[in-house]
Amino acid sequence: MNTASPFNPPATLRPETIAATAAVAADREHRAAAPPLFLSATFGWTDPASKPEFDYSRSGNPTRRYFEEALADLEGAAAGVVTATGMAAVDLVLNLVNPGDLVVAPHDCYGGTHRLLTARAKRGQFQVLFIDLTDGEALEAALIDRPRLLLIETPSNPLLRITDIEACVALTKAAGTITVADNTFLSPALQNPLLLGCDLVIHSTTKYINGHSDVVGGAVLARDKAFGEELAWWANCTGVTGAPFDSYLTLRGLRTLFVRMARQQQSAGALAERLDADPRVARVFYPGLEAHPGHALAKRQQKGFGAMFSVEFAPGIDATEVLRRLQIFTIAESLGGFESLVSMPASMTHAAMAPEARAKAGISDRLVRFSIGLEHEEDLTRDLFAALDAVTASALAKDDGGVGGNLCR
Ligand SMILES: *Cc1c(COP(=O)(O)O)cnc(C)c1O
Repeated sequence: MNTASPFNPPATLRPETIAATAAVAADREHRAAAPPLFLSATFGWTDPASKPEFDYSRSGNPTRRYFEEALADLEGAAAGVVTATGMAAVDLVLNLVNPGDLVVAPHDCYGGTHRLLTARAKRGQFQVLFIDLTDGEALEAALIDRPRLLLIETPSNPLLRITDIEACVALTKAAGTITVADNTFLSPALQNPLLLGCDLVIHSTTKYINGHSDVVGGAVLARDKAFGEELAWWANCTGVTGAPFDSYLTLRGLRTLFVRMARQQQSAGALAERLDADPRVARVFYPGLEAHPGHALAKRQQKGFGAMFSVEFAPGIDATEVLRRLQIFTIAESLGGFESLVSMPASMTHAAMAPEARAKAGISDRLVRFSIGLEHEEDLTRDLFAALDAVTASALAKDDGGVGGNLCR
């Protein structure tokens, strides 16, 4: 049973301080405040009979190590591996799965993860079962077959469903299943799955951890040293480790993770509430709203509600038209950067998913996902409502009676 509260990681330093001080003055020669960037592919041995700590950058690199240690400290991990991309991190974990093993994953997991699991299962490398992880009975039924691995993604993408991590771990422990959480959506600033009992945490560091939309990267953090060593072995074997320059940049981004996250989620919460109060919006999916089915759980399990939300406009509002009129938001995939992004999962992030799988996961063709950045909250609100007003006006103009048709419920 996990006794550590996610609000008080067992480090002596607070997480904000870890992010700010990790590897500062690590360079022993000059005590450079900014950790140095070691681009070298290879490192000299002082003696051919004694292997140095770093000998070749695929297996180990000092700059990448700084970043791995910072992430491990932030997640309460014993060890970590920084990978070239978030997908490389997901794939790295799949090395722990043997032929014939079962992998259980949420039906509304990240589109790329869904594609990877499906493609590898089709090749016969393992079996995969996608279930609704917010349905406890479905999980219990899936665990009867003693899966090797359970993947949790909470909040889920793009519907922000919340999965009870501790409840999952209570069940997987008994089944001997490795529990892996993809913590990309909240980052270690807002959720620490290892402290809630998970064995492994995955990140796409491309998102909040770097936060500047200029690096693609990933990481796997392990609660136990043994798993960490096994993953490091596979990362070197398969060559999925991250480039030193990427680690340098991403550690730079990590410094401001906590302040970015705080501001971004504050704006997201305010915007979600305003949209929720507008009759032209049918549904807002944001765990910070009291009506969200996962609100109480998110409050308990997370340190904040995050800076992502999705909406479904009322019938009669053409979401595509709203997006076309936005000036500040950029229509793009991805999330977690300093800039606000908007996307339509059905035609963008989740296009690789079969339409039936999408429908089953509750992702309608009208769903719009927002990633709120660091712009001023009032500017974002004005931009969004100006676009909505323009689309409403043109819909009304088309409507002969001019009474709004089915725009208002
Ligand atoms: C983006 C993302 C990934 C994949 O990461 P890349 O860095 O794009 O390879 C995996 N999981 C989640 C939840 C993501 O958002």
